[in-house]
Amino acid sequence: MPRQPAREATPLHGTARAPRRARLMSRDQAAAFVRALAGANPAPETELLYADPFTLLVAVVLSAQTTDAAVNKCTPALFAAAPTPAAMAALGAEGIAPFIRRIGLWQAKARNVAALAQRLVEAHGGAVPRDRAALEDLPGVGRKTANVVLNVAFGESTMAVDTHIFRLGNRTGLAPGKTPREVEDGLVRRCPPELLRDAHHWLILHGRYVCKARAPECWRCVAAPHCNYRDKVPAPAG
Ligand code: SF4
Repeated sequence: MPRQPAREATPLHGTARAPRRARLMSRDQAAAFVRALAGANPAPETELLYADPFTLLVAVVLSAQTTDAAVNKCTPALFAAAPTPAAMAALGAEGIAPFIRRIGLWQAKARNVAALAQRLVEAHGGAVPRDRAALEDLPGVGRKTANVVLNVAFGESTMAVDTHIFRLGNRTGLAPGKTPREVEDGLVRRCPPELLRDAHHWLILHGRYVCKARAPECWRCVAAPHCNYRDKVPAPAG
């Protein structure tokens, strides 16, 4: 029986744990929280390097349980060698593997990228579908990756919940939930609709650089006045 490519890693694997939940923010408070992040970074973008929906899709699949910086070290050479689904499918898992050996889960990811490229050629005319079900049907693609592609490549107001957003939603009271889907649904309900598309970026970047997993840097957080986290961290002495 042929080996099945691994599905997308969930955002809760690895070292991340669900943080203690904070009191749920009011809707006004949630809007003020997101607006504070928006004011500090009016034009947020993904940190992954990509050129089109296909290369974005591959970059997001490669980024599971790996930093964007690590993915960005691999993908320029990979995309130069195989810029299209047809070229990537022709490269195959064995041809893809040498380009991505430095990132986690590279063997499974090489299989997934080869298989999804083949599926795009066979089922979608070599294009990335703008359709959640079709995206989630691709090898290695789950709800989070589909949300990123729909948001970044196609401009849809989706919310991809990774480990940072899951932590932030619970820690701050913005959208508490036991699962990524609960946090996603809470954020979609509570973010001001006009900010929802970019909120995905604001929350990821905020979780990555300020509201960090081990110790949030509350003293320099622009959203602190609106946050319900009870143990806000003061500035280091000195
Ligand atoms: S105040 Fe602290 S806990 Fe709240 S969002 Fe800012 S960094 Fe995170």
